[in-house]
Amino acid sequence: MPEDVTIAAPATRRTEAPRTPGARTPRPAQTCRVWWARPTRFSVRDLEVLSTVERERRESTHRADDQDRFTTGAVLLRLALGSALGIPPQNVPIDRRCPECQGAHGRPRVPGILGVDCSVTHTESQVGIAVVRGRRIGIDAEEVVEQDEFDDLAATALTQRERASLARRPRRCRAKAFTELWTAKEAALKATGDGLRVCPSALEVCATGTGLRFTRLPDIPALARGAVLRPLRPRAGVATLAVLGREPVTVHESPASALFGGASATPADATGHFFGDRA
Ligand SMILES: [Zn+2]
Repeated sequence: MPEDVTIAAPATRRTEAPRTPGARTPRPAQTCRVWWARPTRFSVRDLEVLSTVERERRESTHRADDQDRFTTGAVLLRLALGSALGIPPQNVPIDRRCPECQGAHGRPRVPGILGVDCSVTHTESQVGIAVVRGRRIGIDAEEVVEQDEFDDLAATALTQRERASLARRPRRCRAKAFTELWTAKEAALKATGDGLRVCPSALEVCATGTGLRFTRLPDIPALARGAVLRPLRPRAGVATLAVLGREPVTVHESPASALFGGASATPADATGHFFGDRA
C-alpha cells in the first residue's frame, strides 16, 4: 500500500463556514470515533470481509461466545476503516502479527496508511472499537469489578496514592472507581502496545472534576509526551479511551448499527469529516 493514500472524506454535506483567505484557523481537535455493539452471530456473507488470518483465528476459537466477540470486533473494524478510507472492508490492510512471536494475536494495526490507528475491546456483553488518524489509541471496557475481587487487584494494580484516594470514596462507589482507574491504565498500555507486560502500578491516574488524567507514567518512549484520557459511555460497565500525546481530542461514540447497514452507510460527524480533520 503506497504511503500517499488519501483518506476520502465521506460524500456528505459540509457545514463549515467558507474560510477567509490568509486567515489562520486553529488546528481542530483530532476526532476519535468509537462504536459499541452487542456480540453478534454473522451470516456467511458478512464473514467474507474477514482476512484468512482472521477466519483462521475465528475457527480456532472454541467457545461460541468468544468466537462471536472476536468476529464482531474484526468485522466492525473492517467496516469502520473501510468506510473511513473509502475502500472495501475486505481490502483494509489490517496486520495482527504479534511483535514478539509473529503469531496472529497481536494488537491490530493498519500499517502504512497515514498513521491511522485502531483498538478493540471486548467484555461479556459488548464489543467496542476505536479509530483515529495521526495518534495512537487504546480502548478498554470492563464490567465493574466485584467488591471481593477488587481489594487484591488494587494491591497490585494501584499506587499508594491511588489506594488512599479510593479509600476516601464512599464504599458503594469504590468498585466502579477502581474499574475506571484500571480501564485508564489498560487503555494507555494498549495504545503503546505494551499491554500488561508493564505493571499497571507504574502508571498513576488522578480523578479530576471532569475526568481522569495521568500523574505518573512509566519511562517508555511511547508515553514520553503523555496521554489524554477520556471516559466513554459503553452499553454496560466502564470504559476509557487513551490517546497518546497531549493535544486535545474530540470523541464521537455511536452504536455500531450504522456500520452494519453496509460500508456505504458512512457515519460522518457533524463536520462531514470522518476524522474531523483534513487529509
Ligand atoms: Zn505473541
